[in-house]
Amino acid sequence: MPSGSLRDYHKKRDFKLTAEPKGAVAKRKSAAGKIGKLRYLIQKHDATRLHYDFRLEWNGTLMSWAVPKGPSENPDDKRLAVHVEDHPLDYGNFEGTIPKGQYGGGTVMLWDVGHWAPLGDVDESMRKGDLKFAVLGERLKGGFALVRLKNRNNKYGSKGDNWLLIKEKDPYAKPGGKPVTERNLRSAKSGRTMEEISRGNREWHSNRVDEKDPAMKPAKKAAKKVANKSPKKSAKKSAAKPAAKRKSPPRVPAKKKTRRAR
Ligand code: MN
Repeated sequence: MPSGSLRDYHKKRDFKLTAEPKGAVAKRKSAAGKIGKLRYLIQKHDATRLHYDFRLEWNGTLMSWAVPKGPSENPDDKRLAVHVEDHPLDYGNFEGTIPKGQYGGGTVMLWDVGHWAPLGDVDESMRKGDLKFAVLGERLKGGFALVRLKNRNNKYGSKGDNWLLIKEKDPYAKPGGKPVTERNLRSAKSGRTMEEISRGNREWHSNRVDEKDPAMKPAKKAAKKVANKSPKKSAKKSAAKPAAKRKSPPRVPAKKKTRRAR
């Protein structure tokens, strides 16, 4: 399917049960070549298996790849990147937990945020399976390539639309040293660790959880501590945001709503 559709995204999720945004295809057309105008982000996702979701804004949605080992700054590394369904632009602000049993259930961290610029025609590159681009994130910078594996009889197995994510050789390449995924264990947005994000979610359900639960207090303290420590202005705001958003617990089904047509 060409990029710019949320049909598969909506099909896989029950928005009465998950706090992920339903979203819509944005009307704003992506403008190729306008550096800084197209969003790029990576979400670290502790689902059935830990992976990093690599997302690039295009055609009003986020083109998405699931990268099991995460990105590398070493041009010699070829990281498997499984092309998955487009996600809504709103998804790029999502950090929190997806309920167990729901599609992708687990903790989601905004691991990197920024912008990207394609080199060449994106739609054509996607058809060819050879997308070259530059990112300007807080953690990743410079040139990358996403290259589709030609046949499905590759060493990664026959399932999925398998691509490789490869760092280009440029001044931002780091052939050695501690991997970027290991150097950065906190959210680029809220400064929280995966554990703090998953514990933070317990606070959102606090009206339904025993107040004496010993897990509640340390979670609050930790979240505050991180927010105060972080040098980013946005940290406090974003850390507080999810709690404010969920005035009602997401698991309570809306009674009057009829089932949405898919
Ligand atoms: Mn994911």
